[in-house]
Amino acid sequence: MEISPETHEQLINTLAKARRVFVFTGAGASKESGLPTFRDIDGEWSKHDPMTFATFEGFLANPVKVWNLYRLRQRQIAEAKPNSGHITIARMESFYPEFLLCTQNVDDLHERAGSRKMVKLHGDAWQMRCLETGDVFDTRELDLPEEFTEETLPRCPECGSLCRPNIVWFGEYVPREAMMASIASSSSCDLMLVVGTSGEVSGGYGFAEYALANRATIVEVNPSQGALTRYATFWIPEPAGTALPRIWELVTARSQN
Ligand SMILES: [Zn+2]
Repeated sequence: MEISPETHEQLINTLAKARRVFVFTGAGASKESGLPTFRDIDGEWSKHDPMTFATFEGFLANPVKVWNLYRLRQRQIAEAKPNSGHITIARMESFYPEFLLCTQNVDDLHERAGSRKMVKLHGDAWQMRCLETGDVFDTRELDLPEEFTEETLPRCPECGSLCRPNIVWFGEYVPREAMMASIASSSSCDLMLVVGTSGEVSGGYGFAEYALANRATIVEVNPSQGALTRYATFWIPEPAGTALPRIWELVTARSQN
């Protein structure tokens, strides 16, 4: 399915005229870089019940198993590279006077593409958090083994307590600062760009409704329809890695004229 030339023209105009932009990304963006999602049927993760590795109860029941799964995830992230969708979103940041990227992804592909004005709604796969004090540490800065045992589980450098992955698991709240920044940006934006997310979780509906209440235009780039598609003025049924660079070239060419 393709959008008509007229619609395409309107889309380019909308992106060129926007000033306050809120971008909301999800697993689809990472999947284009070869990172399997938790829901994918292939890969190590699918062999395990999410309730055992994506809940706090599951972690407490078997921290060695859960940590080793996240260690595997870190290796997958390290091997993946940002795609042209990530890179285009990073370029948008310096183009618009006001900009916030809110990602549900826990990898660092947006950061490696150059994004800085961003918040991570579901935590960060490279980080660990002390169960006692809540202090957060970057696992890359610590000398941790590739495979954990009961004796070598990650412990807090400050107090020695067990640490958990700094990920928002099922039934947990998203980080307050990331949520507040996303609400502020979505409710004051004139353009909301939805990329690679069905938007079913973590306030997707809310952000779209805040944006619409501010009369923003919603643009969705997603090969398949999701929960936010009905809010979107423009739905581009393509992977972000192909659609965004092509559209962005036209937008920047127009704004130079
Ligand atoms: Zn501690």
